Amino acid sequence: MSGFTPTQRQRLHELGAGAAALDETFADATARDQAFRLLATQLAGAGRAALEALRTGPRVPALRRLEGSLRAALTQAGLVEVVTPAIVGGEALRKMGVEPGSEMGTQVFRLDGDRCLRPMLAPNLYTLLRRLARVWKQPFAIYEIGSCFRADTKGSRHLNEFTMLNLVELGTPLADRDERLRELAVVVLDAAGVTGYEFVLKHSEVYGDELDVVVAGLEVCSTALGPHALDDAWAITDPWVGLGFGLERLLVARDDLAGIERVGRSLSYLDGVRL
Ligand code: ATP
Ligand code: MG
Repeated sequence: MSGFTPTQRQRLHELGAGAAALDETFADATARDQAFRLLATQLAGAGRAALEALRTGPRVPALRRLEGSLRAALTQAGLVEVVTPAIVGGEALRKMGVEPGSEMGTQVFRLDGDRCLRPMLAPNLYTLLRRLARVWKQPFAIYEIGSCFRADTKGSRHLNEFTMLNLVELGTPLADRDERLRELAVVVLDAAGVTGYEFVLKHSEVYGDELDVVVAGLEVCSTALGPHALDDAWAITDPWVGLGFGLERLLVARDDLAGIERVGRSLSYLDGVRL
C-alpha cells in the first residue's frame, strides 16, 4: 500500500485536490501513478473550465467580487469608505504600540528612512476619525479595504500581502458597543456569504483581550473596543468599536479552500485556478 509521492501531492494540491483525494492509498506504484494521471487530468480540465467561465461570466475574480459585495453592504449600512496610503511612517506604528522588538514589529516591511508598508489599517483610520470628528456628528462609521503587508510565516493561512477590511464607528454609546460590534460583524459575514462562525475571546498583542470571529478554527476577524489605552496617543476620547477582517480568509472560510494563496494576489493563480 502506498500514497501519492510528495511531488504528486504537491501538484494535485496546486490543482485544487481536497484532503480526502490527497490521502488515498494504492495497491502498488502502477495503480498510484495511473490514479495520479487521471486525477491531474480531471482537475486541470476543471481549472480550464473555471477560467473559461471567468472569461465569459463574471470577468472579475472572487476577491474583487467579495470587495464589491462588502462595499455595497457597508454603504447600505451607512458607513463611509476611505482610501489612505499604504506607506506609513514608523511613528504611526509606534503609536500603535508596534515597536521593532515586538512580535508585530518583526513582521513589518521597512522601506527607506523611517517609512514602512502598513501591516494594518488602524493607524490611518485613527487619524481620520480624529479629523472627521471635528466635522461629523457622532456616531459615524468609516471603513477601508486595502492591502496590508506582514512578513508572516507563509502557510495555508498567511500571505505576505493580504487584503484587510477595517471598519470603525466612533461615538457608539458605551452600553451598546458589544451589540453593535456583533451587528457590524454580521453585516460583513452575511455580505461575504460566510456561515458557521462563532465569536471567541482572544488575546491580541496590540489591543489586549478582544473578540475574534472564527470559522472552523480559522480566525477571519479581530475586533477592538474603545475607550482604549492606545486612544490617548491619537487624541481620541469618545467610545468606538472596530473590526478587522482578512478578505482572503473570508474566501477560504466560505469556500473551504485548501490554501489561502489561491485567492490572494498571485502570478500562479487566477480566481483560485492554478495557471
Ligand atoms: P493570525 O493570528 O491568524 O496570524 P492576527 O491576529 O495576527 O492573525 P490581526 O492583526 O488580528 O491578525 O488582523 C486582522 C485580520 O487580518 C485577521 O483576523 C485575518 O483575517 C487577517 N490577517 C492577518 N494577518 C494575515 C496574513 N498574514 N495573511 C492573510 N490574512 C491575514
Ligand atoms: Mg487577530
